[in-house]
Amino acid sequence: MDVSWIPGSADLVVVIVASLTVLGGVGATIASRSKRGAPPRPQGEPSPTVTADAPSAPASAPSAVRGAEAPEAPQSRLARLRSRLGGGFGASLLALLSKGKLSDDDWDELEETLLLADVGSSATDQILVSLKERLRANPDADPRAVLREVLIEAIDPDLDRSLALGAPGTGAHEPVVVVGVNGVGKTTTVGKVARVLVAEQYSVVMAAADTFRAAAADQLETWGARVGVPVVRSDREGADPASVAFEAAGRARDEGKDVLLVDTAGRLQNKAGLMDELGKIVRVVSKVKEPVEVLLVLDATTGQNGLTQARVFAEVANVTGIVLTKLDGTAKGGIVVAVQRELGVPVKLIGLGEGADDLAPFDVEQFVDGLLGSAS
Ligand code: GDP
Repeated sequence: MDVSWIPGSADLVVVIVASLTVLGGVGATIASRSKRGAPPRPQGEPSPTVTADAPSAPASAPSAVRGAEAPEAPQSRLARLRSRLGGGFGASLLALLSKGKLSDDDWDELEETLLLADVGSSATDQILVSLKERLRANPDADPRAVLREVLIEAIDPDLDRSLALGAPGTGAHEPVVVVGVNGVGKTTTVGKVARVLVAEQYSVVMAAADTFRAAAADQLETWGARVGVPVVRSDREGADPASVAFEAAGRARDEGKDVLLVDTAGRLQNKAGLMDELGKIVRVVSKVKEPVEVLLVLDATTGQNGLTQARVFAEVANVTGIVLTKLDGTAKGGIVVAVQRELGVPVKLIGLGEGADDLAPFDVEQFVDGLLGSAS
């Protein structure tokens, strides 16, 4: 099978964005600059194909951006999107706390609100204890300020939520593997993350290693074409996903790209099969370069189900960060707290809509302000 490599127009793109920190701070990983020859293909594997459309510039695109869109700067996104969180459990908690002196029934209602928001029982207990202590110590305190402080602590402002990437422009071809079950928004997230990285001036390659769904590869190509990011895919549905990922890793290295984003299939019906598949993808990519991140995508609307999925993926892959999608589609949002506790890894990005730039780096304070419907 013929391999074609059409350089992505990202190579030519000058994106006009202010120089920003990487998703809230550059990670500690220092990229290797090794430039070895192309890796041998595993025997009997067909060559995946690389595609990158170079669409004509949309009428609204800045003139310096030729053939691709300029995605919104990541750091401004949560400020724009956080109103989509409003009216959730934070607002209900605040309404209860603002009643003044609270009865036992009020405290029961606070507990129920937290549990219904998927915060989880241990975090709920901790939040209630903190609220009681602080309100007892300072009965005249502003309930919003106290609640804000307690929720921020529960979500943990000290976790490092940056992606562990080196600086853009180094050609370090650092792999980021994205995992999660079908339907959670995984492929969409890969496309959106590519936009985030392009906005941060990284050069990117995507691997369509969800080879069981031809539509997934097509979807990635559409995302890639918009920002000039090439996609490595197989022409054959059901091809070995590891082969596609391996090919893409080699391309990312040989073309001196900064980041390789790998979309994977998320069939959960068989844990052993999932383990084999994800394990193989990580192993073959690691032959070129060890993944710097394994991001687990979870649908925030699935509550307990999402937590069960998270456990399975944590067992089969070394998850380093969580992407919570569809937070715009739920009035709950407490799963942010529960899933971090469950897996011991931070939520790094959140999805707040279907729009191309509706994925934002997670910022605890902005998130809590969104939950509380704060105007600040
Ligand atoms: P995959 O099967 O996990 O790869 O899921 P897809 O990426 O195909 O997405 C499934 C659906 O979820 C699509 O309709 C997406 O537009 C939608 N989706 C993804 N992220 C979000 C989000 O943050 N908010 C909303 N409302 N929809 C989303």
